[in-house]
Amino acid sequence: MLVHAGKTLFTEDELRCKGSGLLILAPGFDLELLKLRVAFDMPMSVNSCCRSESHNRAVGGHPRSLHVCDKPYWPTGGCCSIDVGTRHRGEGYRQKLIKLAESLNWSVGIHPHFIHLDRRVDYTSRPRATFPY
Ligand SMILES: [Zn+2]
Repeated sequence: MLVHAGKTLFTEDELRCKGSGLLILAPGFDLELLKLRVAFDMPMSVNSCCRSESHNRAVGGHPRSLHVCDKPYWPTGGCCSIDVGTRHRGEGYRQKLIKLAESLNWSVGIHPHFIHLDRRVDYTSRPRATFPY
């Protein structure tokens, strides 16, 4: 689990693949997650973090998804993406998360029900991006 100042910010079960149970994070990704979570200082529900290649296929994920933790397309060494559920949060919550993530160099995918966040800038040659689904 990821702990800061004695408080559990993410549990292993929140981060592991919902299909396979695998939990393989890209080296350093846990620290970026903590930085984001501490700065955000609001509740975060994790819709999706790690995905095995087969689970990613089963849920219709992109073939080169940065969620894939066991056979990643990019040389990440593990998952470097997280989807934060926003279905029951207000637009203020969404905008705060989007602006903060952008300022911390996360790439941001904006879906009506969740915000996808990834660290492509740390593990691939692709630049930071903000994009809609
Ligand atoms: Zn995602």
